[in-house]
This record gives sequence, C-alpha cells and structure tokens, in this order.
Amino acid sequence: MIDLADALRLVEETASPLPPRRELLGRSFGRVLAESVRSDIDSPAWDRAMMDGFAVTAADFAVSGESPVDLEVVVDLPAGCLTDRIVSPGTAARIMTGAAIPAGADAVVPVERAVEGTASAAAGSRVRLVEPSFRDGQHIARQGTAFAAGDVVLSAGSRLTAAEIGLAAEAGATHVVASPQARVAILSTGSELVDAAATPAFGQTRNTNGPMVAAAVALLGGEPIPLGIAKDRPEAIRAAIQQGLAADVLLLSGGVSAGDFDLVPGILADCGVEQVFHKVRLKPGKPVWFGRLTRHSGQSTLVFGLPGNPASTLVCFDLFVRPALQILSGAAADDWHLPRSRAVLRAGCRGAGGRPVFLPCRLEQAGERLIAEPLRWTGSSDVRGLAGASGLVAVPAGADYEAGAEVEVLIRTAPCPE
Ligand code: AMP
Ligand code: MG
Repeated sequence: MIDLADALRLVEETASPLPPRRELLGRSFGRVLAESVRSDIDSPAWDRAMMDGFAVTAADFAVSGESPVDLEVVVDLPAGCLTDRIVSPGTAARIMTGAAIPAGADAVVPVERAVEGTASAAAGSRVRLVEPSFRDGQHIARQGTAFAAGDVVLSAGSRLTAAEIGLAAEAGATHVVASPQARVAILSTGSELVDAAATPAFGQTRNTNGPMVAAAVALLGGEPIPLGIAKDRPEAIRAAIQQGLAADVLLLSGGVSAGDFDLVPGILADCGVEQVFHKVRLKPGKPVWFGRLTRHSGQSTLVFGLPGNPASTLVCFDLFVRPALQILSGAAADDWHLPRSRAVLRAGCRGAGGRPVFLPCRLEQAGERLIAEPLRWTGSSDVRGLAGASGLVAVPAGADYEAGAEVEVLIRTAPCPE
C-alpha cells in the first residue's frame, strides 16, 4: 500500500502524451494543439462596417453637432458586395454590417440616426443624418486590428474549445496538428453484474460503473469503448482484457480487492501488464490497481483496475484516471488534476484514521468565500451521494472537522452561486 501523493506521482511519470496527428479542424474539438496555428489573412481582412447605416466622410460631420447633414446616397452595399464608387463629401453609401467600407468613407453613421423618414434611403435618393457625437472611424473595424497575416493566433498547448475552433477557421487552418483522442476501453467485472436494462434478481447488481465511467471518459474528451461485463471466470476476464489492451487505456472495475474472485491483478500480470502500484492509502478507493503494458513498438496501454464500488470507482477516476487522460491528451500540467481550493465546511466531517478521505460535497460561492456542504453519503457503494457533488472534501489522515472549519476541496464542477 502506498501514499496518495506517491501514487499520483507514479501516474504522472507513467503516462505520456499520445503522438500528435494532423486532423481535420472539424474533428479536432477538445484536442490540445501540438503545433501553433498561423493566420494566412489579416483580421479583419479589410475595413469592415460594424453597423447597418451610412458610410460617410468625416469632413461632412466635422462641425455638424445637432444639425442634420443631407447626403446623396451613391451606392447600396449589402455584405459581400463590392463597389468602385468613391464616397466624397456630400455623399454616402448605404451599408450593411459586414460589408467592406468603400474608398473615401471614414465612418459609419447608424441607420437609427437617419431622420424625417430617410432611414431606407437607397442609391439615388437622399438621407438626412443627425449624429451629435460623431467620431472619425466610428463603427469601422479596421483591417488587421484583431490579428495580421502571419501572426501565430493559437500556440501549441492550447485546447481547442469553441472559440479556438472559430479562430482557427478564420485563420484558414483546415487541418491542425493535435494530440488524438485517447481510446479508452471499459470493462466491468463481476459474476453478480447485470446490464442496467435488466431488473436485478436477488443477489444481482446493475452495472453502474460501465455507463458512469464511459461518461467520465467522454467528458474529458476521450473515446469510450464499452466492453460490457465479464463474469468472474479467468477465461472470460482474460479474453476481454486482451481485447481492451488494444486501446490506449483500459479501465477495469471490480475484482481488484482481496477476495477469492478478485482475479484481475493476476490475469493482467499473465497478459504482460506490469504493475506500477496496487492499493493506495485512501478512502474510498483503497484497492485501486495501476499498471502499463509496453509493446515492442514502444506503444503502451495504461491499465487501471478501479474498485468495484461505484463511489470508489468515481473517486479513483477523478484522482488517477483524469490526470492520465489529461497527460495523454497533451494538456498542460495545470490541467492534469481537479482544481483545489480552500472552503468553509457547513457541517462537520469525520476522517478515517490512517487514510485520507474524500467526501462528496456541494460547493457554493458566497461572495469571496467558498462553502462546502457535505452531502448525505452512506459509503463507497452509494453513488447517489456523488450525484450533484460539485466537490470532494479532502480530509487528511487523522483529521476530523467541525462545522465552520476551513478545509481543502477538489472542485469537480463549477460551484453554484449561494
Ligand atoms: P469487487 O471489488 O469486485 O469485490 O466489487 C466490490 C463491490 O462493488 C461489490 O459489491 C460489487 O458487486 C460492486 N460492483 C462491482 N462492479 C460493479 C459495477 N460495475 N457496478 C456496480 N457495482 C459494482
Ligand atoms: Mg467482483
């Protein structure tokens, strides 16, 4: 049995980023860039109207103040339309948001400033504008002010969420070089397990871990590969493990504690998976197993034997599997582990003597203070207590806490406002 800090360090040392691949931008959502992205154009690529209205010259508004300015509309410019008409003093172009500013124009006066029924004035008619707070250049986004052609707009290490994908698209990156999605095989072991669709007979247990772990993997950007249930028979477990070892990561649940039918560690060893650790001073999750299969090609599969009890499985996923998946995906070290914070306990928490304990809680943000409300939780088989748990209270070995104590929490999801 090893300490949690040592176990976490071993996971960090054993996992390494998957080799980056060139991928279609449209398939790279959630990936971490291995190469930076440069733009092939300026943004905006030309001076762009940011309002519907009239492109005008500054000369006509230099001293206008509250007095109306009468202009001849010389051209209509919907977005995407070009013109070689020049806007000279005394004239205006009717222009829509997103159209290129015509030569000669210095500013856009919004359509709302047109008076006396002239707002819809098109080419060939006159518009009357009152713009008391006129500013040269108003409502124009100038060429190259967001970024210039040749600029690095996304650096290696950036994770591609929605905004980054949009930026890469604008910069002309049809493909990016990024860490691929980790393929994560998921196997539930136990002769008592039945599919969630079944009504369990006496002595049977629904497979909670399979769907739960698949969801946790998907939330971290991995590709879950469900392998279903293997009964506690060596040949059944061995066959499923062999199949799972083709993935980047194999997550097993059950069969790693000390019972007669806890066959998983022995079969993993037979399959050539080298144990890194087994059993961690921790509650829940003590039986957790971790190892690695390294092939002649140098490719490897990380293997986690998660404890069977669902709450233990999820806590071990958060503590050990999450950093492994983050490292595989190329994430920066700051993103490997769940974020930690200090919080004030709303109710007391009991520790577990010699082991650190992680207890589900609901986190609330009350101004500057983070409040942790421990959730009703009956132990490691109780996954209900973890549903809605935005955090875990970390109770160190030997500690017990009273209400009002300041504690360390792991943040699973954003705290709710109080
Ligand atoms: P084990 O480590 O195999 O002894 O399992 C510990 C406990 O977790 C037992 O009560 C199992 O029935 C339960 N368990 C194991 N796997 C699952 C699963 N996939 N879903 C729900 N409970 C499970
Ligand atoms: Mg079992």
